[in-house]
Amino acid sequence: MEIVDIRFYPIELPMVKPFRIAYDVTTRSHTIYVEVVTDEGISGWGEAVPTPKITGESFGQALANLEFLKRHLVGRDPLRVRELEAEMDRVLRGNSSVKAGISMALYDILGKVLKAPLYRLLGGFRTRFETDMTIGIDEPEAMARDAQRFVDQGFRVLKVKVGEDPDRDYERLKRIRDAVGYGVRVRIDANQAWSPKQAIRMLRRFERFELELVEQPVPAWDWEGLAVVRRSVDIPVVADEAVHSPHEAFELISVGAVDGVNIKLMKCGGIGPAVTIARVAEAGGAEGCMIGCMVETRLALAAAAHVVAAHPIIRWIDLDGNTSLADEPSTGGYRLEKGEIVLEDKPGLGVEVDREKLEKYRYELS
Ligand SMILES: [Mg+2]
Repeated sequence: MEIVDIRFYPIELPMVKPFRIAYDVTTRSHTIYVEVVTDEGISGWGEAVPTPKITGESFGQALANLEFLKRHLVGRDPLRVRELEAEMDRVLRGNSSVKAGISMALYDILGKVLKAPLYRLLGGFRTRFETDMTIGIDEPEAMARDAQRFVDQGFRVLKVKVGEDPDRDYERLKRIRDAVGYGVRVRIDANQAWSPKQAIRMLRRFERFELELVEQPVPAWDWEGLAVVRRSVDIPVVADEAVHSPHEAFELISVGAVDGVNIKLMKCGGIGPAVTIARVAEAGGAEGCMIGCMVETRLALAAAAHVVAAHPIIRWIDLDGNTSLADEPSTGGYRLEKGEIVLEDKPGLGVEVDREKLEKYRYELS
């Protein structure tokens, strides 16, 4: 089997409402669908969401780098997935989202050729698990209303974005707990907003809200700060922006800086590296791994869900990245049932891509 072409489809998708975190607001969503075409009539699909502030890739660079990687991969055997993942790392440093897009497509082909869903190929043991729903930064009352709405929809885990202002954050969590009670798990994500001392102060103040974990309380570069926070508070500290590659996960976990890491396909460069991070975390005795996402479509979320299904260490699941989209080109892969992701038993990622929508939402980079 041979790769004969790699096609990219840059698209712009409408959003239901702007999504706000400590350092960013997303109002329109841009993503790239990647199709790896083989000589045997089987295509694999993947998705790249370049995120300049996280992955260091602008949208235009991502397209250029996909073109660059294509030149290295056309003519190769798509089933030698780990070899091709390693090859991408060898020829191009960083640029994790484009590698993730190609990696997903290669695993999709593998599953289609072997007629098995990806989670089975990865040794999957579960097909149903809870995901959280994320509440972006907004007025405290609005966030409490969102929380109530999500709980009414069946979600039992909420992820709350904080880091804008200490008193308002306190108010946000208070309103949310008042609205949904303590039977719902609440985790928070500060997206690097605090210094270590601020983080310790805030997290002690938040103790009464019985939070499940805190994601990235301090700046991504401050590994020592993560360790200081971790030693000073009871709740698990999970690195997100601080950890991209398996090497970083290994370092952070082995020096005891964190209780866990947030794995994102767009940060680590695909399914192979995501699996390695999960294994590293297991070997290092981490309390758990989180799996997260950018604002991304069902295609990339399905790929992440297959990874979750095969790794018990991934206990904190945050795969809600398409809920803010008003429309998307993918269907299938999984169902969302009352806060639970339920994987479908279809080959590969199990996702159907609507080519008309790829055309309809085509994004021309000016
Ligand atoms: Mg995060």
